[in-house]
Amino acid sequence: MKLEKISVKEFLLRTKVGDLDLEDFSAHVIENSRSIQKKYNPFITLKDKIQAPQKKGKLFGLPISVKDNICTKGMQTTAGSKILEGYIPPFSATCVDNIMNEGGVILGKTAMDEFGFGTFSINCAYGIPKNPLDTDRSCGGSSGGASCITAAADFPHIALAESTGGSISCPAAFTGTVGLTPTYGLVSRWGLIDYANSLDKIGCIGKSVYDVALLLSVIAGNDPRDSTSLNVPKEDYTKFLKKDIKGMKIGVPEEYFEGVDEKITKVVWDAIKKLEDLGATYEEISLPHTKYSLPAYYIIAVSEASTNLAKYCGMRYGLHLQLQGNFDEYFSTVRSNGFGEEAKRRIILGTFARMAGYRDAYYLKALKVRTKVIEDFKKAFKQFDVLAAPTMPIVAPRFDEIEKLSPIEVYMMDILTVAPNLAGIPMISVPAGKVGGLPVGLHLMSDYLQEGKILQIANAFCL
Ligand code: GLN
Repeated sequence: MKLEKISVKEFLLRTKVGDLDLEDFSAHVIENSRSIQKKYNPFITLKDKIQAPQKKGKLFGLPISVKDNICTKGMQTTAGSKILEGYIPPFSATCVDNIMNEGGVILGKTAMDEFGFGTFSINCAYGIPKNPLDTDRSCGGSSGGASCITAAADFPHIALAESTGGSISCPAAFTGTVGLTPTYGLVSRWGLIDYANSLDKIGCIGKSVYDVALLLSVIAGNDPRDSTSLNVPKEDYTKFLKKDIKGMKIGVPEEYFEGVDEKITKVVWDAIKKLEDLGATYEEISLPHTKYSLPAYYIIAVSEASTNLAKYCGMRYGLHLQLQGNFDEYFSTVRSNGFGEEAKRRIILGTFARMAGYRDAYYLKALKVRTKVIEDFKKAFKQFDVLAAPTMPIVAPRFDEIEKLSPIEVYMMDILTVAPNLAGIPMISVPAGKVGGLPVGLHLMSDYLQEGKILQIANAFCL
């Protein structure tokens, strides 16, 4: 059976009518995944064998990889951290259940920066995924394993990923794949290992806009087990892909081009001109609070992260050591051994930002900035259907370049993705072109629950 280049859409048409031997297919998927694992290391856990689909449904027989901070029943879930090594959840996240109920099959758990702390998937306790386009370069982070397997797989597949401040858009941009981050609350977070609860969003990475629209249709929907889950009816997001984009209004925020590599700027402007040729109109606008979004994001994210990580005390989940000394001593030893350097940095930063005496100056101020950032977007969406910008200010960097960066310089690479993530609006990154042979992402953002608009325009762009 020739599976090379078969799309998700074609695969599902064939499995629906029984025109594909799923056992043969599964064997091919495992074999190909193993060879990809050897070359690029996208998985923390790769299954030996794919289970038969539980049901016939929208995803019948389709392999789905799951970022390792999303719980999978009976399958190790580490969030990329040593402190959770060996943790086997007794339940699956709601989105994983939804996938299996539609006949999707779980392929494995993908590599990520520990708890999502990173931009390049180098803060990984189980090995660093390498960019299939150039193995000396990063796949982006923190959903680096998800973008890696999506770019490398020669079988139909979609990745379940997660973003707090850009972890879907960035890896999609660096690997030339499509990354969709939905509105905050559209997909249940039940069963997701928290990084920062007010920011975390489960979404997807796929080879095409159709793929991410399809997976979103399966995972979106109200879940009473997540109190932040939105009460909106289920939708088939693939229906938005048929429309043209005549008359759509695009805003181009000028702040999103400051400090961006010139060649990237050109690729993105060419993309915007293409959208104009397709019938959309555009106007340059200003989102004046953009420059404050990065510090505000990092204060809020690390404050929430430091409280979330308090539960890893060596008693309940994951890493346990021989009990020695009093509780404080034991707690310190477990955490010193279990957390990586970046997690420790964020615990210290977050604890500091929340301390009595500093709370007003940092945490509360950051919350006020967040409100201002949201107001910028609200104003823009009164006038425009979508906003268009580069996804990242650089193309996928080489590992030796990343090594030279300070932690602050790494944080600064998130400058274009943190604001929409702070606001919780939906966004999609699609490949727009190349610079020096490496992909550049076009970032399209829209108002709350307007996933349809970004999918429509992204699809028209990619056709
Ligand atoms: N790079 C950002 C951070 O380190 C975003 C990561 C994410 O979205 N999980 O916080």
